[in-house]
Amino acid sequence: MMASRLPAMSQSVPSLEVLNALPRVQQPNYPDPQVAAEVIEQLRSLPPLVFAGECDDLRAHLAAVANRDAFLLQGGDCAETFAGVNADNIKGKLRVLLSMAAVMTYAGQLPVVKVGRIAGQYAKPRSKDTETRGGLTLPTYRGDAVNGFDFTPEARVHDPKRLVGVYNASAATLNLVRAFATGGFADLRGIHAWNADFVRSSNVEARYEALASEIERALVFMMACGLDDDQLATVDFYASHEALLLDYEHAMTRIDSRSQQPYDCSGHLLWIGERTRQLDGAHVEFLRHVRNPLGVKLGPTTTGEDAVAIAEALDPDHEPGRLTFITRMGSKAVRTTLPKVIEAVEATGRKVVWSCDPMHGNTFEADNGYKTRSFADVCDEVNGFFDVHEELGTWPGGVHIELTGDDVTECLGGIDKLAEADLANRYETACDPRLNRNQSLELAFMIAERLAD
Ligand code: PEP
Ligand code: MN
Repeated sequence: MMASRLPAMSQSVPSLEVLNALPRVQQPNYPDPQVAAEVIEQLRSLPPLVFAGECDDLRAHLAAVANRDAFLLQGGDCAETFAGVNADNIKGKLRVLLSMAAVMTYAGQLPVVKVGRIAGQYAKPRSKDTETRGGLTLPTYRGDAVNGFDFTPEARVHDPKRLVGVYNASAATLNLVRAFATGGFADLRGIHAWNADFVRSSNVEARYEALASEIERALVFMMACGLDDDQLATVDFYASHEALLLDYEHAMTRIDSRSQQPYDCSGHLLWIGERTRQLDGAHVEFLRHVRNPLGVKLGPTTTGEDAVAIAEALDPDHEPGRLTFITRMGSKAVRTTLPKVIEAVEATGRKVVWSCDPMHGNTFEADNGYKTRSFADVCDEVNGFFDVHEELGTWPGGVHIELTGDDVTECLGGIDKLAEADLANRYETACDPRLNRNQSLELAFMIAERLAD
C-alpha cells in the first residue's frame, strides 16, 4: 500500500503491518480502523515538517556534545496542546530556553545545542488506561494527538483525525520558531535584557547578579569590537518530541532524496520513552531504521546490560551524535543507579550524549491532590548527575527539562518559594508539572555554575 508511494521504504523501514505485529504499548484504540487508515494515507502525502539535512546538522552538533565540546539544552512542555498554539505561548517558551542557553554558554564557555520539546509533543504515555471521578470511569487523557482533556465520554474517545491536527499544529509552531530563530527575536542582546530583568525583579541570590553583569560586560565588549550582527541575531534551534504514536511517526517518514535514507520528518530529534523502550517492541524496531538523532529515556530500574542492548540496537555503528541517553533516576537514586549504567555503556567504546531529565523521577502528589515536583529535588538530581560524571571522568552532556515561559505554579520552591497552597493559583499543565520561567532561569544559573567549575 504505502510501498507504492515510497518504494525505497519497503527495503529499509518495516511496514506498519510488520510493526503492528510486534509488542506495541501505549497506542490508541480507534473505534473505526478505516478512518485511521485514511488519515495515515493523508499524512503520507503531506510535506515533511523538517528536512533530513537539518537532522544531520543536529546529529553533528550532538556529536560535539558527546565529544565534550558542547552542552545540550532540551526543554519545553510535558504535553503541548492545540489550544497552546499561539504566538505568545511559543515566544515565551523560546525566550526562556534561549535565556537559559545564554547563561550556560557564557558560564561554560561552550556552545549550547538548543532543542525544544516543541512542535510535535502532543502524545503522552500514561501509567493507567482509565481514570475515575465521581463514580464515572473514562479512558485517560493521552494528549491532544489522541483524545480530549475534558472529562466527558465524547472527549475521551480516541480520534484518528486528531493526527492531522498534530501535523497542522506542529507546522504552525515550527513556522513561528523558525521565524523567531532567524528574524531578530533571538538576538542575544534582547535575551540578555530579559535575564537582567529576572535578576533584578526576583529574590535571586547575589551570586547570579555577578554572573549576569559579567555577561552584560562581555556583550558590550563584543559589540564595541563590531562583532558581526548576524551572529548575535540568529540561532540554531531544533524540534523534538517523544515518538510515541507509531501510526503518525511511520506516516511522517520520508526517503531523503540525497542519501536515499529514511528520516522521520515529524521532528529533528525523536526519543523513546521509559515505557516504550522494550528491545523487542515496535518503537525500538521502527526508530532503529530512521536516520534522525535519537533519544532514549532511562529510569531507575535500568541495568547496564539494558542500556548496552538498547545502544547496540539503535547505534550499532557507534556513531557519535546518534544516541542520547536521557537518564531520569530521581534525586534519591541518581547517585547509586547512574554510575553502573554509564560505566557499562562507556565500556563499549561508543560516545553517547548523557543528558539528565531531573523531572520524571521526582514527581509526587501534594496533599491537596496536585501532581507536582519540588525544585530542590530537581536541582539535587542535576547536581547528582554532575557529581557522578565528575567521579567517573565522563561528560555530563546536557539536561532535559519540562518548562514553560509563563509564571505558572506547578512545581514547588525556587526563588519565589512556591508552597503547596500556591499550586492552585496557576496550575495549567495538560500533563506533568513544569518549571515556570523564574525556576527555569534559576536552574540555568545553577547549571552554569557547575559548567564553570
Ligand atoms: C515525558 O518525558 O513526558 C515522559 C513521559 O517521560 P518518561 O518516558 O521518562 O516517563
Ligand atoms: Mn512529562
